Amino acid sequence: MKVAIIGSGIGGICSAIRLKNQGFDVNVYEKNDYPGGKLSTFKLGDFRFDAGPSLFTMPHLVDELFAISNENPRKFFNYKKKKIHCKYFWDDGKKFTAYSDKKKFFNEIEKEFDVPSSTVKGYLKKAEKKYNLTEKIFLKKSLHKLSTYINTDTLKALFNVNIFQINKTLSKVNSEELKNKYLIQIFNRYATYNGSSPYKTPGMMSLIQHLENHYGTYIPEGGMHEITNSLFNLAKKIGVKFHFKSEVTKLKIEKNEIKFLEINNDKKILSNYFISNVDTHHFYTKLLGNNISHRSLKSERSSSAVIFYWCMKNIKTDLDLHNIFFSSDYKKEFESIFEKKQIYNDPTVYLNITSKDVKNDAPKNSENWFVMVNAPHHANQNWNSEIKILKEIIIKKIEKVLNIDIKGKLIKEKVYSPADLDKNTNSYLGSLYGTSSNDLFSSFLRHPNFSKKIKNVFFCGGSVHPGGGIPLCILSSKIISDLIEN
Ligand SMILES: Cc1cc2nc3c(=O)[nH]c(=O)nc-3n(C[C@H](O)[C@H](O)[C@H](O)COP(=O)(O)OP(=O)(O)OC[C@H]3O[C@@H](n4cnc5c(N)ncnc54)[C@H](O)[C@@H]3O)c2cc1C
Repeated sequence: MKVAIIGSGIGGICSAIRLKNQGFDVNVYEKNDYPGGKLSTFKLGDFRFDAGPSLFTMPHLVDELFAISNENPRKFFNYKKKKIHCKYFWDDGKKFTAYSDKKKFFNEIEKEFDVPSSTVKGYLKKAEKKYNLTEKIFLKKSLHKLSTYINTDTLKALFNVNIFQINKTLSKVNSEELKNKYLIQIFNRYATYNGSSPYKTPGMMSLIQHLENHYGTYIPEGGMHEITNSLFNLAKKIGVKFHFKSEVTKLKIEKNEIKFLEINNDKKILSNYFISNVDTHHFYTKLLGNNISHRSLKSERSSSAVIFYWCMKNIKTDLDLHNIFFSSDYKKEFESIFEKKQIYNDPTVYLNITSKDVKNDAPKNSENWFVMVNAPHHANQNWNSEIKILKEIIIKKIEKVLNIDIKGKLIKEKVYSPADLDKNTNSYLGSLYGTSSNDLFSSFLRHPNFSKKIKNVFFCGGSVHPGGGIPLCILSSKIISDLIEN
């Protein structure tokens, strides 16, 4: 039996590995000349950059793919646990280091914010409970099959429905429980992990914190792209066939089934099953020519980003891998992104420096700065002029907080706008995480992993259930392989 996968994003590669292990003949068709989609890499001179994701959590999900293929993951892929999750900075001079060591983390909270550690411990305990009650229902199964709801896990969750705090926003929950403006901002930030606003996403989303605090954060040896690289090598080793520069341009439907896909407007490929790893918007509008639609296409898109990749020479900072320079008005920042569709004039700046951990990523006495701000999805903004203004704002903000010169150290740059993100990976409007979770029912409104209208197609990746982000995309591949097996 043959499976044709459209797209070699992380969801597509992981699905290929699982389905090959189930005995299918698997072919992956990718429009770019490299694998990984958003999770890819490039070089600017002697500086290496990860193009998209920078935060790695739940590495056991990657290891599992080697285990089911009877391979030792350590022969392909290695990573280390970070001692510091993130360094936070505010314009008023306040600083906070989020240590992974629990004792150090709580000591730092008491020292910097004068908040008893018991307050945050209680808050995190609730996050853990939310995660444990929902993990099996929301993350590991299709939400759109009756069997998901007829079991003891769901009953247990229903009996504990109050714990989920679904009637309040994440920001409200954080304000009521943490009562310190710096801590509230730190914990509100987790809404951005799936491209949402803390002032809209439900309080249930505090479970995201649990992932970071419980499982820890990691950096792959060689950088984030090694996740793609190692899984791509594993897939090839077990016999998956990859076809690059092979854009799927059309899907032919007959009698509620895909009959064939067309590559580069020319070659026809027949298959028993088809897996879409592309944004569902692209799937319905471009590949099916709007002949069939799905209600999830109307859902609000997640936020996007503007990214500056900066080659920094002769610089020595005491920054870490992940650093955040907060906006002084977080609420206005999210209003600007989701209501006005504009980048805020005092944006929160995320600065990721892999050369702090991956020594070959930048030459001696240099650093590779990945500087990202949250942006609205592409809505015909003039990104060239926005980026010019934004660059000055970012430089001024970091220079002031760190008291260093940036302009004189910046020797080369590349910039990515939401429109570029759209073009490179066909992610509709450049959204990082498919649809947002700004609605109480977002999880249920997200596109399912199968189609009721087309029998032989399944969906994985960031625009479908359970959502965007590397761990969830990996989990989507498990859900579809289970659906196909059953
Ligand atoms: C800037 C940025 C920062 C992020 N930060 C994080 C982070 O820190 N941690 C985290 O976990 N997640 C992060 N994410 C989200 C994460 O990158 C995505 O959720 C995940 O990588 C999406 O994977 P996917 O399987 O949906 O495929 P995608 O990466 O979307 O890839 C889809 C693939 O399909 C190909 N394709 C599209 N159309 C066609 C076609 N017609 N024919 C053939 N091929 C096609 C594309 O070229 C692409 O290779 C970030 C994303 C971005 C962009």
